[in-house]
Amino acid sequence: MDCPRCGQAAKPGTQFCAQCGARVDTPAPQGPVYQEWAPLPVETRGDARARKLLVGCMIGAVVLALAVVGGAALLSFCVKLG
Ligand SMILES: [Zn+2]
Repeated sequence: MDCPRCGQAAKPGTQFCAQCGARVDTPAPQGPVYQEWAPLPVETRGDARARKLLVGCMIGAVVLALAVVGGAALLSFCVKLG
């Protein structure tokens, strides 16, 4: 906000103009408003990482199960031939 008397730009939170001393009444910056935009807590990020790891383990288990089923099928095929 600029000074109403001389037009000097006043810093936020100051009450009087540094140039002419007139009252400016600049509102102080409100800190708590920006708190909800703070970065996510470490716990949440760790949880997401754990979930990613769990998904990877599930995919690995599915691939392993397919390999076992395929191996069993191949083994029975060989037994039939043999
Ligand atoms: Zn002024």
